[in-house]
Amino acid sequence: MTRTLITGGLVVTAAEETRADVLIEDGRIAALALPGSQQWTADRVFHADGKYVIPGGVDAHTHMELPFGGTHASDTFETGTRAAAWGGTTTVVDFAVQSRGDSLRAGLDAWHAKAEGNCAVDYAFHMIVSDVNDATLREMPGLLAEGISSFKLFMAYPGVFYSDDGQILRAMQQAGDTGALIMMHAENGPAIDVLVEQALARGETDPRYHGEVRRALLEAEATHRAVQLSRVAGSPLYVVHVSAREALAELAAARDQGLPVFGETCPQYLFLSTDNLAEPGFEGAKYVCSTPLRPKDHQAALWRGLRTDDLQVVSTDHCPFCFKGQKELGLGDFSKIPNGLPGVENRMDLLHQAVVDGHLTRRRWIEIACAAPARMFGLYPRKGTLAPGSDADVVIYDPHATQVLSAATHHMNVDYSAYEGRTVTGRVETVLSRGEVVIDRGEYLGRTGHGAFLRRSTCQYL
Ligand SMILES: [Zn+2]
Repeated sequence: MTRTLITGGLVVTAAEETRADVLIEDGRIAALALPGSQQWTADRVFHADGKYVIPGGVDAHTHMELPFGGTHASDTFETGTRAAAWGGTTTVVDFAVQSRGDSLRAGLDAWHAKAEGNCAVDYAFHMIVSDVNDATLREMPGLLAEGISSFKLFMAYPGVFYSDDGQILRAMQQAGDTGALIMMHAENGPAIDVLVEQALARGETDPRYHGEVRRALLEAEATHRAVQLSRVAGSPLYVVHVSAREALAELAAARDQGLPVFGETCPQYLFLSTDNLAEPGFEGAKYVCSTPLRPKDHQAALWRGLRTDDLQVVSTDHCPFCFKGQKELGLGDFSKIPNGLPGVENRMDLLHQAVVDGHLTRRRWIEIACAAPARMFGLYPRKGTLAPGSDADVVIYDPHATQVLSAATHHMNVDYSAYEGRTVTGRVETVLSRGEVVIDRGEYLGRTGHGAFLRRSTCQYL
């Protein structure tokens, strides 16, 4: 039996802030006690005086190695989960992808093959359903039994991931019957495609037009439609990467009616804006993602939504493409810029900065970054909190250290940072994954293949 002791820190969970010593035995939290009150012996002791002791982050939206627009997201499961650990995230839920014409099974097997034996921290999968038909609907309960309890549909990207309203309704009915959670990319894709074509015909080819054609109203309209379809189907709904104030208003209205509707936003929508998309030259391509960045004045609504629980989760939608050679595929045509930003390493720090800035309380930081995503996707209390019996996924966090975010120092396999030069207060000091030290004082001590696949139960908010 291996025993690890973390002494003297402020233990912060979604529910409590307590000064406590934390005892870890064989990869799990064994006990918490008043500092110094127990004569625990341990093989290894971390002194956390003046530091926070928090649950490892749960990033419920990543896309390692995602094929998109003729290229692949530049982080593999190996590099991406290592970067996650550097940033204090110890669980990622990635998206397995069904290719059109193939089964869900084939897609899931392919993603298992990419991840297995390669991850530095634990991982799970959602399933992207690109082809809703009788066969795929029949496959859903089997996947649920294997711990794939959430299925993502797209109202955007016609011809690629897009499902029409009838397909969406059928998938939602199946989810309602089985307890699965439907995740939705809510943007009106067919309408956006018309605006893209018109913009390009006018010679509007720069990255900033990506933000202009993907109108906030088309996010709001799709969000509204998704809510109504889920009501008709009697299924819960989780809307991914909410970026527009108008879309958030649709979610808030649905929740005010008591509907089982949930929403996620991402750091890029909280910290970046269309100002970044409009950066000169082709620099704006670094910030091309969908839903797109919005004008700055949407940010206040998103922060408020996080405080009022109209938004429950902050994930990254980590989907990095290098500026050189990948983002450049869209030189002269913004619609060919691969959609996605890096961020899996930055999320915990940026949200701590939001605590420093007064947008969030410490406990809310842990709730939206650890506890709520774990509950939403059936991983709680194994992940997302520090309680006896929980996995010892623990971060010792120095709330006073400062750091400058930069591609020169980050560990994601991508040649730029969306937050280049930004100074943030707070930094990960030590990261444990199931009791094993992955990061300690600027050193990576983890190992490829330590990360295990997590079978998830169904959504724990229902
Ligand atoms: Zn995504």
